[in-house]
Amino acid sequence: MIRFNPRKSRLCKLKTCRARFIPAEPWEWWCCVEHMRAIAEQKREAAWKQEKRERLKALERVSDITARMKRKAQLCARLRDAALGCISCGTLIADEYHGGHFFPAHKHPLVRFDWRRNIHKQCKRCNKDLHGNLTDYRENLILKIGPEAFAELQELSKTTSYKHTREELAVIENQLNADLKELKA
Ligand SMILES: [Zn+2]
Ligand SMILES: [Zn+2]
Repeated sequence: MIRFNPRKSRLCKLKTCRARFIPAEPWEWWCCVEHMRAIAEQKREAAWKQEKRERLKALERVSDITARMKRKAQLCARLRDAALGCISCGTLIADEYHGGHFFPAHKHPLVRFDWRRNIHKQCKRCNKDLHGNLTDYRENLILKIGPEAFAELQELSKTTSYKHTREELAVIENQLNADLKELKA
């Protein structure tokens, strides 16, 4: 514990003040009563802002959270594959690329955000017009991630009805955010 020394000066905690003062009591972190009130007001405001953030988050629909996370996972795959062509046809000159799922996101909840194995850069033609162009996708995917990882992915894809809890989604989203940060670095 830090012993209180009444002669030792402090800096006022109010950021716009920061005046040096000698506290009369150990809990005094302000140079005057006005600044004590201002600090208390700022704390209340910060707490309210935090509460508002949390309330908004609790109101957010799981479907919206899932859609946002899916976009993040797709972005991870596209950043990783920036220099590569389409996973299915190999084209490097498509006008538009997507983050294409091998096992479709809406049917396979456990591999929906699995950008390391289940999501790869894919041209729009293969992704949309050819509905994933899965025969070529499968062949190139096994070459890319290896048969072992493909077998694991296949195993996970067998679960077709799983509802993530909000807590689980939050853990996965934190991981996705960390992955994105690393990929962008
Ligand atoms: Zn002050
Ligand atoms: Zn393609």
